[in-house]
Amino acid sequence: MNISQIFENISQLLYIRGDKSYRVQSYQRVADIIGQLTHSIEAENEISYLSEMLETGQLRTIKGIGDSAISVITDLLQKGTSNLYEELKLEVGTEVLELLKVRGIGIKMATQLYRHAKIHSLSDLRLALSSNRLKEIKGLGTRKIQSIETSLNYLEIVKNLRPLGIIRPIADRIVSKLKGQPGVEKIEITGEVRRGEEMVSQLELLLIGSPDNVARVLKDHLKDQVINATNISGTINQFPVVIHFTNLTSMAWDWIVTTGPEDHVQQLSIPGSDLSTEREIYLLSGLPYIAPELRRTTEFANPIEDKLPHLVELTDIRSDLHMHTNWSDGLNTIQEMVNQAKSLGYSHISITDHSKSSVVANGLDPNRLRKQIEEVRIVNNRTDGITVLAGSEVDILKNGDLDYDDELLAELDIVIASIHSNFELSESQMTQRIIRAIENPFTMMIGHPTGRLLGSRPGYAFDLPAILDVAADCEVALEINASINRLDLEPDSVILAKQKGVQLSVNTDAHSLPDLQQMKWGITVARRGWLEPSDIINTLTLDQFFDWKNGRQQSLE
Ligand SMILES: [Zn+2]
Ligand SMILES: [Zn+2]
Repeated sequence: MNISQIFENISQLLYIRGDKSYRVQSYQRVADIIGQLTHSIEAENEISYLSEMLETGQLRTIKGIGDSAISVITDLLQKGTSNLYEELKLEVGTEVLELLKVRGIGIKMATQLYRHAKIHSLSDLRLALSSNRLKEIKGLGTRKIQSIETSLNYLEIVKNLRPLGIIRPIADRIVSKLKGQPGVEKIEITGEVRRGEEMVSQLELLLIGSPDNVARVLKDHLKDQVINATNISGTINQFPVVIHFTNLTSMAWDWIVTTGPEDHVQQLSIPGSDLSTEREIYLLSGLPYIAPELRRTTEFANPIEDKLPHLVELTDIRSDLHMHTNWSDGLNTIQEMVNQAKSLGYSHISITDHSKSSVVANGLDPNRLRKQIEEVRIVNNRTDGITVLAGSEVDILKNGDLDYDDELLAELDIVIASIHSNFELSESQMTQRIIRAIENPFTMMIGHPTGRLLGSRPGYAFDLPAILDVAADCEVALEINASINRLDLEPDSVILAKQKGVQLSVNTDAHSLPDLQQMKWGITVARRGWLEPSDIINTLTLDQFFDWKNGRQQSLE
């Protein structure tokens, strides 16, 4: 149960039903408060954590949590639901909330569709699209309808997929539960999760051991267990899990087969029984060892001739150049972020809060940015062992201009330019917009270049090869945003960027302390994109970083 999410649902359903706006807002506010309280807590501990806050009376003291919220929270914690929520589910239904996942449909539009077009679910929306009924709705022009269709198609494709960053930690937890248990000799992660696909359709493990023991150890975790001769399958949080069984002589080959993909496996020879490692099997097939992230079908015809890269590793990364603090929409102070980054061993980081046009994200106006730069310098001076750079994630305005004037941009150590608005421009307008931002001499990096949100929003339309050509000319880096919901750029685009000589930058875009740990997901994408340490500006030392910065400025003058 995600209590913050339920409050958000209640707020949205109240809006659609037409309740008073103060009531709608008060439930949204509780959703935000609880979201912040439970942000860094494991989902399985949420109930006990909030129950304790309720019992000790702590919840009641928080501004914004009134009597009606307390009674809903109490019901949710004790009964698993609340009368109000049940009433709204009956009256309005929850499927209408799915409409909000579609790009271009906000709560107002969803309400309009619900009330005036009887569109109560994604399938209603699909029907209305195919029967051409959407254009009768006020506020929906041709372009908006097109964008709704693209987004809807995307949602249908990803319906059964989950982000790697959600599933991989679950895989790690099962492995550590099983490791060392009697009857479990060896266990490895395999399949799509091992290959590091950004969205995965199932979680697979490969195991030497006794099926009965495994079933018993996992009885509280793996639901709907089915035990076969060769595997156990089941679900965790309604997500499919398969545990394959093998033995010592077949382990290496079975690991290759279950890691897949099939076309890749077909290039390999089936080994005799004396081959005990994957490396030996590749050798027998006349190939060098191919890292799981590179086991994809399309990239190379002949890995020897195409020369395998010396792939980047997490330990090569010296800096995280994109993160937010409570100056804009982050949760923590500058100093807290710096201390955490230092504990991760970085040589330098940059603080890059939002710019003034990102109003919902509490973006900084020029005066606040000037104050923040001073604050960053102070924190930097009093903190040993790490260098803190002053930066900004500056909005790219609709016409491609940056959100601050040149004089202010010149004071920053790093300028990341990102798109946070006007996603529905035509492809050529969007391409021109991004090119204009890249050509701005202050832009050093384009943040989350496609704007995609995994599982909910496809990227906006633009001409990537054209952008890459300009980025290569202007020596502007493109980001691999490591946030588990973005992973943007994605691997195929990273390969193209590298071919065109564009530098990449892997960053967490952290909005809280735990987010700083997400670098590893970005590194997985970088590896799937064939990147070596020298392709990534985060592997530079601080001096090298400034050499890069100054060098590109000189060449642009
Ligand atoms: Zn951003
Ligand atoms: Zn950001």
